[in-house]
Amino acid sequence: MSDRQVQTQTVEQEAAALRMLLHRYNYEYYALDAPSVSDAEFDRLLRCLKEIEENHPDLVTPDSPTQRVGGQPLAAFDKVTHAAPLLSLGNAFSAGELRAFDNRVRSAAGRAVEYVVELKIDGLAVNLIYQSGRLSRAATRGDGEVGEDVTSNVKTIRSIPLVLQDDANAFPASFEVRGEVFMPKPAFERLNRERAEKGEPLFANPRNAAAGSLRQLDPKITAGRTLDFFAYALGQRQALPVQTHAEVLEELARAGFHTNRKHRVFQDIEAVISYCASWADKRRELDYEIDGLVIKVNDLRLQEELGNTAKEPRWAIAWKFPAEQAVTVVEDIFIGVGRTGVLTPTAILRPVFVAGSTVSRATLHNEDFIREKDVRIGDTVIIHKAGEVIPEVVSVLAEKRTGAETEFIMPSECPECGKSVVRKAGEAAHRCVNPACPAMAREGLIHFVSRDAMNIDGLGPSIIETLLDAGLIADAADLYKLSVAGLAELERMGEKSAGNLVQAIQASKEAGLARLLFALGIRFVGAKVAGTLAKAYGQIDAVAAAAMDELVQIPDIGPRIAESVVGYFADPEHLQLIEKLRQAGVRLEEIKPDTPLAQIFAGKTFVLTGTLETLGRSEAAAEIEKRGGKASSSVSKKTDFVVAGAEAGSKLTKAQELGVPVLTETEFLAMLETNVI
Ligand code: NAD
Repeated sequence: MSDRQVQTQTVEQEAAALRMLLHRYNYEYYALDAPSVSDAEFDRLLRCLKEIEENHPDLVTPDSPTQRVGGQPLAAFDKVTHAAPLLSLGNAFSAGELRAFDNRVRSAAGRAVEYVVELKIDGLAVNLIYQSGRLSRAATRGDGEVGEDVTSNVKTIRSIPLVLQDDANAFPASFEVRGEVFMPKPAFERLNRERAEKGEPLFANPRNAAAGSLRQLDPKITAGRTLDFFAYALGQRQALPVQTHAEVLEELARAGFHTNRKHRVFQDIEAVISYCASWADKRRELDYEIDGLVIKVNDLRLQEELGNTAKEPRWAIAWKFPAEQAVTVVEDIFIGVGRTGVLTPTAILRPVFVAGSTVSRATLHNEDFIREKDVRIGDTVIIHKAGEVIPEVVSVLAEKRTGAETEFIMPSECPECGKSVVRKAGEAAHRCVNPACPAMAREGLIHFVSRDAMNIDGLGPSIIETLLDAGLIADAADLYKLSVAGLAELERMGEKSAGNLVQAIQASKEAGLARLLFALGIRFVGAKVAGTLAKAYGQIDAVAAAAMDELVQIPDIGPRIAESVVGYFADPEHLQLIEKLRQAGVRLEEIKPDTPLAQIFAGKTFVLTGTLETLGRSEAAAEIEKRGGKASSSVSKKTDFVVAGAEAGSKLTKAQELGVPVLTETEFLAMLETNVI
C-alpha cells in the first residue's frame, strides 16, 4: 500500500468518524432537544468535516451532515411536506468571512448591494400557513423538506395571530410566514427552576427549552410554557407587492405578526460588520437569546437571482458570536468557606479563553450539583459564561474519560479550622458551624467593609488577611482601634496609605443603622431588608429586642428573616460585638436627614441604565427613593424617566420606542441639586 493510499484511508476514516459523531449530535439536538456538546464544539466538528470534504470531494456522501438541514421529524407527529424547503444558513465567524460573502454577492449582482441585518433569534424555525386570513397549519422545519405538524401547540402562543389584522389586505388568500419560536430568558430560568425542584432533567439552554416545549404531544403542556415568536420571512417571495425584505417585515408587522424591531438597512459591508460587532455585549441586555445576526440581501429580485444551494440561500449568511462556552479540563476541586460557614466547591480549570476573557475557575455550587453532573477531577467539561455570572460547568464529556479521573468527596471537616462539617436535612449546603472558624471571621470582615455595607475604601481582602495574621484585629469592632503608626508597620503599607485607611475607617462610623445591619451579615438580611428594619426601629437596641411576631408585621419581613434576626441577637457573642462597636463610637441609630428632602419624585418611577459615572446605580436609586420616587429595573409605559449612562443598551432603546423621557446623568444630577424636575 502506498503512503498516499494510507493517507486517503485515514482521511476517509476520519470523515466517517466525524459523520457518525455529528449524526449523533444532530439527533440529540434536534430530536431529543438535549445536546451533549456545546454548539461551538458542534460547529468546530462540522467545519472539520467540511474542510475534509472540500479537499476530497469524492468523500462527500448524500447523507453527510454537511449536505442536510436540521434533523428528522419525529414519528409521533403528523408529517408535513413544506411547499418550499426551509433552509439553514451559511455561517461567518469573522469579519473576513462577511467580506468574502459580500464579494460573492456583489460580483454576482454586478453592482453595490444593500443589506438588511436582523438579530438571529436562538429558537426554532416554524412555518405558518394562512388561508383566507386564518392560521390553518403550523409545522417545524424538520429536515428542511418535511417537518412536524405542531398546529395545536402553535395556537397556544399568544404572539402568533390566529386571524390577521383587517388592514392586511395586501396578503394573498393563501400564504406562508416563517419565523422563530423562542423562550424568553426569564421564562427559561423559571422553567428550569421548577424542573430542578421536581427533580426533572434541566434544559441546556432556552433554544432547547423552546423546542422541547413546542414539540409536545399534549398542547396543554405547551400552553403552560411561555413561548414567543418573531416573524422574519415569507414562504413565497411573490406573495406581496413589495420590492425589499425590509418592506416584507413592515407588512408582516402590519398584519399583526410580532417582528423584531432591531433590524437595520446598510449600504455596505463595513457598516454591517460594525453593527454585528456592536451586539456582542449588548445581546446580554435582551430578554431573549440571540446567537448572532443574519445578513440578508434587501432586494427581493436579487435574492431570487442569487438562489440557494441545497442547504442554504446564497443571499443570506449568519454572523455567529464567539462561543460563550468552551471545553477544558477540571484540574482540581477546591473548597472555599464563606462568611456563613457554607463550603462551596470550585473547579480549578485548565485556563481557557471564553467570551473575551480567560477563565480558570468555575463554581460547582454544592455536592448535589457535583453528583448530578457527575463532575470528577480530571474530567473534560464544557463551561459556560453568561454575562456577569460566574462561569459554571454545563456538562461533562464522559466519552473523553480515560479512567484516571477521581471522584470528589465533600470533606467531613472544615478545610480552614478542621472542625466537623454538617449538612442539615433539606439543605444543599455543607456548613462549618464553628463560630471561631478563621474563614468565617475573614469573610465576615470582607463583607463588613464592602461597598453596600460600611463602605470602607482601601480595605481589600488581602489587607484584612494581613491584619488578621498580624493579630491586629479579631473582629469588626477592632478595625476602629487601628492607628496610623500600627498600620504603617505592616509590609507594603506606607504612612500615607495608612493615614487614608484610618480616615476611611473612622468616617464609616457614621454609616448609619441600615448599613450597619447589613454589614453584620445576619442571614437573609440583605441591604434592602436592613433598610426596612432601620426605618422601622431607628435604633439597634430596638431591633435586638424585637420579637418574632412583631417583626413579621413589617412589610417584606417574613418568618424566615424574622427568625434569623431574633436568632442573631440571641447570641451573646453578637451582643458583645455590638457593645464593642458602641464603645468604638460607631453610630447605632438610623441617620435622620436634618431637613427632609423635598419629595420632588413622589409617584415617579425611574429606570437607571448604563454606567453612571458620578453616582453608582445603587446610590442613584437611594437618592430617588429619598425624594419619594421609585427605581425600577424594567422600562414600561408607566416609567416616568430613564436615566441613561454610558453604554446604555436595550432599556434606552425601549424607552425611545415607548416615548419615555430619557435623562443624561448630568440632567439627573441637576434635578437632585436644584430640587426641580
Ligand atoms: P442556524 O441555526 O445556524 O441558522 C438557521 C436558522 O436560523 C433558521 O432555521 C432560523 O431558525 C434561524 N433564525 C433566527 N433568526 C433568524 C432571522 N432573523 N432570519 C432567518 N433565520 C433566522 O442553522 P441550523 O442549521 O438551524 O442549526 C445549526 C445550529 O445548531 C448551529 O448553531 C449548531 O451549533 C447547532 N447545533 C448544535 C448541536 C449540538 O449538539 N450542540 C447539534 C446540531 C446543531
